[in-house]
Amino acid sequence: MKREFWFIVGSQFLYGQDVLDTVDARAKEMAAELSKVLPYPLVYKVTAKTNKEITDVIKEANYRDECAGIVTWCHTFSPSKMWINGLANLQKPYCHLATQYNKEIPNDEIDMDFMNLNQAAHGDREHGFIAARLRLPRKVIAGFWQDEKIHKRLSDWMRAAVGVAVSKKMKVMRFGDNMREVAVTEGDKVEVQTKLGWQVNTWAVGDLVKEMGKVTEAEIDALVAEYEANYDIATDNTAAIRYQAREEIAMKKMLDREGCRAFTNTFQDLYGMEQLPGLASQHLMAQGYGYGGEGDWKVSAMTAILKAMGENGNGASGFMEDYTYHLVEGQEYSLGAHMLEVCPSLAADKPRIETHHLGIGMNEKDPARLVFEGKAGKGIVVSLIDMGGRLRLIVQDIEAVKPILPMPNLPVARVMWRAMPDLTTGVECWITAGGAHHTVLSYDVTAEQMRDWARMMDIEFVHITKDTTPEKLEEELLVKDLVWKLK
Ligand code: MN
Repeated sequence: MKREFWFIVGSQFLYGQDVLDTVDARAKEMAAELSKVLPYPLVYKVTAKTNKEITDVIKEANYRDECAGIVTWCHTFSPSKMWINGLANLQKPYCHLATQYNKEIPNDEIDMDFMNLNQAAHGDREHGFIAARLRLPRKVIAGFWQDEKIHKRLSDWMRAAVGVAVSKKMKVMRFGDNMREVAVTEGDKVEVQTKLGWQVNTWAVGDLVKEMGKVTEAEIDALVAEYEANYDIATDNTAAIRYQAREEIAMKKMLDREGCRAFTNTFQDLYGMEQLPGLASQHLMAQGYGYGGEGDWKVSAMTAILKAMGENGNGASGFMEDYTYHLVEGQEYSLGAHMLEVCPSLAADKPRIETHHLGIGMNEKDPARLVFEGKAGKGIVVSLIDMGGRLRLIVQDIEAVKPILPMPNLPVARVMWRAMPDLTTGVECWITAGGAHHTVLSYDVTAEQMRDWARMMDIEFVHITKDTTPEKLEEELLVKDLVWKLK
């Protein structure tokens, strides 16, 4: 859908019409110039001088689906009591861009007229006070509006705000329940709908099997041609590939019919299906759908959200699971994979379609799946857990490497990484915080974006970095436990 952000500039009548005209012209110019470098248009709305102008534009921002957030700035002084009624009702993400039209103080030209026109330095402080006083979740970005650093930070925030919009409309289709007896994949679906907007509901596996029966050979031919165009075929078991295509087409039809952009299934409930969807789920993820194995609807929805926050609205993010460790000194790594379903957006090279026996679950036939190595590079892993009464988002910085072993008999896609601050301390921190074995691994969404997203969604945020120690983390979690009980 079309998305944009609204630029709202604060001022007042005190300075006279000439100043207001200048502010208006500059705001227009800045929005137009910034729109050329930002991932979404920044639309200049108003230089607001009254309570009514602010209240009206915020009411409109709340109502308009295409408005994904507001960016405010005070070129001149804008007395903040006039912002209270509007801001108190704001329901969209909010960024305060503390910038200035001019970069330099002009040595000869500067006089009191210049000072009155260019006073963001104190206008933005008055504006910041009222947001602090109202306890509004907001992002503050300070710097010269033409600097690339500012463009990058504003772009990142915009993408996080789009993650908020996607979250609020999120619908998850569950095929079957969670894997029996597993705790961390459970959660309060009423709470996530209230807090994050997610609609999480179940559809019968039998309905999917029925839908699979309606898929035509021509539809399968077309999808197999797409597989052949994107992947190397490393199996002569074409029946298995065609079966996965049938599963994908049926799932996609059901997802699209219901407006769902995420789904789950479980190997314990495949009644009427010959194979666990492998290639099918992987290719759906490549198209931006979220997926969670073993009924993990939280990781499924988060996968779809991180994908939407990434480059071009479908970035390099995917469902992941910590599987096994390499604990050789100096070469400590986590090996992540899943029994089939790893998103090809994480791949370093062109994935291969292979078929192998899968012992877990009720697979009558060998499922086709994409096999590849993950890319090297910096990334994050993300886990959303239900703490009972609140949600906690845990983000850990990681450094992915080219897998140090070829592992020729491992029949699934694999990613290898070092968790921060180092593997074992990182594992201690992750386990202390209660992070799940399922995560979203992302190469292009940053921890700062996830922090912004968590702030906008009003949930707890824990970040494990190169500087985290288990001792500091334990104290942080203790304080947060108290804070979130009071909130
Ligand atoms: Mn799993």
